[in-house]
Amino acid sequence: MRLPRWTAIPGLLLGAVLLADVLGRAMGWGALGRGSPDAPRVAVTFDDGPSPRTPELLGVLHEYGVRATFFVTKPACQAYPRELASLQAAGHQVEAHGRWHMHALLLPPWREWAQVRWHPRPTTGPHFYRPPYGGHSPLTRLIARLQDRQIALWDVEGRDWLGQPAATLAAQTLAQVKPGSVILLHDGPTVTPELLNLLLQGLRHRGLQPVTLAELRPQRISCREGLSRLRRSYGL
Ligand SMILES: [Zn+2]
Repeated sequence: MRLPRWTAIPGLLLGAVLLADVLGRAMGWGALGRGSPDAPRVAVTFDDGPSPRTPELLGVLHEYGVRATFFVTKPACQAYPRELASLQAAGHQVEAHGRWHMHALLLPPWREWAQVRWHPRPTTGPHFYRPPYGGHSPLTRLIARLQDRQIALWDVEGRDWLGQPAATLAAQTLAQVKPGSVILLHDGPTVTPELLNLLLQGLRHRGLQPVTLAELRPQRISCREGLSRLRRSYGL
């Protein structure tokens, strides 16, 4: 007995979502990842801010004379305009983390267009966009290209959302950092200022200079790197 054609639609949709997740979030296909491994430099980046935690992070960065990159969302910028202004005044790089903090696969195309379009610094480029949860699809890439945005991911996670002690997180993070690494932290968790302090100490000890993402000049994720990201992402 032949099944009616429409019964294949859920399967096709599921396949499309899985393919988008593998190519985008897991492999980072076509996105920017780390910088060149030939220079002893790294980028420290913060997602989800600004927040009430921003002044503490700014204090630690100032202590070490480090400029970082903050990927901010529109709702957070509206809720904490003074913190946003202090980020900009201190000379940190401020880039977009979305008009909404939503995974790309939950946004219909017209909302994803608006999601990628929003930027806290609309006039002067280049513009980086870090998709929430790192989730993006081939459609996101097309939208980003049409709007002159570059999708920027990371290669090392500080895992500051886990609720573990700062020393444990710092040791795990530093063990993965290499020249050219882009480190993902968050502007919000209680542990992050102490973690940042330990990371900056560790980076200094290893002779790795933190710079902004624009200064690091992140490169497109290669096929080999994409496969290694895929393995890590799905725990293979
Ligand atoms: Zn986020």
